[in-house]
Amino acid sequence: AKNGGKDDLCIFDPIMHDVVEDRLAMSNELRGALDRGELSLHYQPIYGIKGEPLVAVEALMRWNHPVRGAVPPVEFIPVAEASGLIVTLGAWALDEACRQLRQWQDTPDTGTAGQLQVSVNLSARQLADDDLPHLVAQTLARHDIAPHRLILEITESMMINDVEAAIRRLRELKDLGIQLAVDDFGTGYSSLGYLRQFPIDRVKIDKSFVDQLGTSQGRALAEGIINLAHSLALEPIAEGIEHEYQSTALDDLGCRFGQGYHFARPESPDMITRRLADNAQR
Ligand code: C2E
Ligand code: CA
Ligand code: CA
Ligand code: CA
Repeated sequence: AKNGGKDDLCIFDPIMHDVVEDRLAMSNELRGALDRGELSLHYQPIYGIKGEPLVAVEALMRWNHPVRGAVPPVEFIPVAEASGLIVTLGAWALDEACRQLRQWQDTPDTGTAGQLQVSVNLSARQLADDDLPHLVAQTLARHDIAPHRLILEITESMMINDVEAAIRRLRELKDLGIQLAVDDFGTGYSSLGYLRQFPIDRVKIDKSFVDQLGTSQGRALAEGIINLAHSLALEPIAEGIEHEYQSTALDDLGCRFGQGYHFARPESPDMITRRLADNAQR
């Protein structure tokens, strides 16, 4: 496995040894991080590309380590996945995101907060967990969140290992009334043929396509993906929009929603509260 699953560790290679030790140390520290309050969620705004108010936010996990500082998710999420700890961390993220959504909604003068949706990333381990639908239902109920306001993001690779099982699990989740999005869309294998069978609502067009919008070939590729999404009645949401021209191109191609540094970086809950208040004043 590319993340260094237990089977492909070679402890006799000194460099690998360091990597292994570091991951082991990180894994142990991550175990206590939640209890020590070192984990938090930041939220990246998802906007209507034509300048509509904030429609949704994506919850992104942050680990503020006392010595290492801010550890990027690309480093600690794979460690949490390898150890299985992601199931605990993921359940926490789901609860925290719903709690925060409730808080935004209950804050006075936050205008559209009542319609805001929150998107939460799922890992393969969580999706494979039989308890997931129950956990999601319980979490929504605990914070009194209408199901359609929760979006769960899954990746293509999580769907194609066991297609039948994935369809069944996603159906159970859809039956709760939540929304499902396919993350990093277009980067996976050829699950395109299967896509129709999955009860999904949105696809998140991967940043790599947005990056290529400056060339005619790249633009054609993005157009193909956006049209494919529309033909399957899926709402495309572009990721990693860093420049105005990308936003304009996506708009021309019929993609209505997007996120990226051009609009906003992932932010603290307080900054999102301020954005909601600004929306309300318009
Ligand atoms: P992702 O789900 O694809 O999230 C989007 C990533 O792109 C985020 O990185 C975000 O900060 C970054 N991004 C957004 N806009 C731009 C842009 O315009 N330019 C660039 N260069 N980057 C942009 P982040 O927060 O570092 O997260 C990385 C990955 O870690 C996520 O990718 C996701 O796969 C994983 N992750 C983060 N939080 C969670 C979580 O709570 N659970 C799980 N299972 N995975 C998570
Ligand atoms: Ca995501
Ligand atoms: Ca993504
Ligand atoms: Ca990604």
